[in-house]
Amino acid sequence: MRHDILIAGASFAGIACAVAAARAGAQVAILERKRDAGERLHTTGIIVKDAIEAIEAIAPIPPAIVRAVSGVRLHAPGGGSLALDSPGYFFLATDTPAMMRWLADGAREAGAEVALGEAWAGGERTPGGWRSASRREARFLVGADGPASRVARDCGLGVNARFLFGAELEIRGATLAEPDRLHCFLDAKRARGYLGWAFAGVGVVQVGLASTLGQRPARRDEARAGVSPPREREWPLPDVDAFAKAMAPRIGLEGGTVSARRAGLIPVGGPVHPRAGDRVTLVGDAAGLVSPLTAGGIHTAIASGSRAGRAIAAALADDRGVRLVVDPPVPDFTAKRWLRRAYDLVQHDRLFDLAIGTGAFAAVAKRVFFHSR
Ligand SMILES: Cc1cc2nc3c(=O)[nH]c(=O)nc-3n(C[C@H](O)[C@H](O)[C@H](O)COP(=O)(O)OP(=O)(O)OC[C@H]3O[C@@H](n4cnc5c(N)ncnc54)[C@H](O)[C@@H]3O)c2cc1C
Repeated sequence: MRHDILIAGASFAGIACAVAAARAGAQVAILERKRDAGERLHTTGIIVKDAIEAIEAIAPIPPAIVRAVSGVRLHAPGGGSLALDSPGYFFLATDTPAMMRWLADGAREAGAEVALGEAWAGGERTPGGWRSASRREARFLVGADGPASRVARDCGLGVNARFLFGAELEIRGATLAEPDRLHCFLDAKRARGYLGWAFAGVGVVQVGLASTLGQRPARRDEARAGVSPPREREWPLPDVDAFAKAMAPRIGLEGGTVSARRAGLIPVGGPVHPRAGDRVTLVGDAAGLVSPLTAGGIHTAIASGSRAGRAIAAALADDRGVRLVVDPPVPDFTAKRWLRRAYDLVQHDRLFDLAIGTGAFAAVAKRVFFHSR
C-alpha cells in the first residue's frame, strides 16, 4: 500500500495532523496500535477553553460527550481551600473514550485511513520515503505516538527525558458536593511536582494525581543517545486509591465504585531536539509539546498536529524526490519551564497552608488555571 503520509498514533496530535493533511489533498493513513481508539486511555481528557476551537475545526463536538466545569477549588494540605472563578471561562470534561472514537471517525470523514490494531513496529528508508514493517510505503512519516515515541527512537530524533507519572480512577455512581468545580490538591508528599485532582466528568467522577516520585529522569546526554523512557510496568505510579480515600471527606465524594483506571507519562522537559529529520516529523507528546507547568498537552497536540499536517501536505505538493525536512515552529515554554523549576523548589505543605489565604497566591493561581484571564 502506498500513501503520501503515514502517521503513527491516532490520538489528538495524529488525528489533527491527518485531518489537516487530508483536507489539503494528501493521501493519509494512520497506524494505531490499539484495536479501539477509546481503550486504555492515558489522559484525563480535560479540554481547556482555548483548545475547543482547535477541536471544533475538525468537527463540532457532540454535546453528549462533554460537560462544562466552570470553576476551580484549590485545596491546601492542611484543610484550607480557595475557590477560583473567571467569568465566561470553563473547562470541558469529556467522555474521553467516546471522544477518541469520535476523533477517529472525523479523520475517516476527512478521507484518511485509520488502521486500528496496527502498530508502527519499525521500518526502513526507501529512496522516496519509508516502508513500515507492515509493508506500507509512504513519502513522509509522522510520529504522533506519544511520550515514549518509537518513531523518535527509530529515526534518531530527540526523545523525552523528564516525566510526571499520572494515575486516575473513574468512579461510576459517585457524587461530589460541588460538581461544577475542578478540585485541585496541593500535596508535596502524594503529588510531588504536580497536583491531585477530582471532578464530576461525563457519567463518572474522575480522581487522579501525578508526581515525579520515584523516578530518575534520563540525563540530557542519555536522552540524546536514545535512552528509552520507562516501560509501562516500571512506571512509579502514585497511590491514587489512598489519595481518593483521604480526600473524599473534603470534597463530599460519596458512593460509587471504581469502573476504570487510567495512567500515563506526562513529558514535562519541553520540546525535544531534533523534532524533524529527512521525511519524518514528530508532533504532540512525541515532540515534548506539553506545558511543563500545567502538564496540559491536548491543546498543543492538536495545534502542532494541524500545523505539521498542513506544512507536510504543502511540501509534498512540491516534492522533487530530494531531502525534505518539515519542522514547523513550536512553543518553547521557556517561562513555564522556569515556573516549573520554581514550583519544584518551593513545594512545601506548610508553605501552601500559609499561602492559600493570600491575595498574591490567588492572583497567580488564576493566571495558571484561567490562562492569564
Ligand atoms: C494521566 C494523564 C492525565 C492527563 N490529563 C490531561 C488533561 O486533562 N488535559 C490535557 O490537556 N492534557 C492532559 N494530559 C496530557 C495529554 O493527555 C497529552 O498531552 C495528549 O494526550 C497528547 O496527545 P498525543 O496525540 O500527542 O499523544 P497520546 O495521546 O499519548 O497518543 C499517542 C497514540 O499513539 C499510539 N501509539 C503509541 N505507540 C504506537 C506505535 N508504535 N504505533 C502506533 N500507535 C502507537 C497510542 O496508542 C496513542 O493512541 C494528561 C496526561 C496523562 C498521562
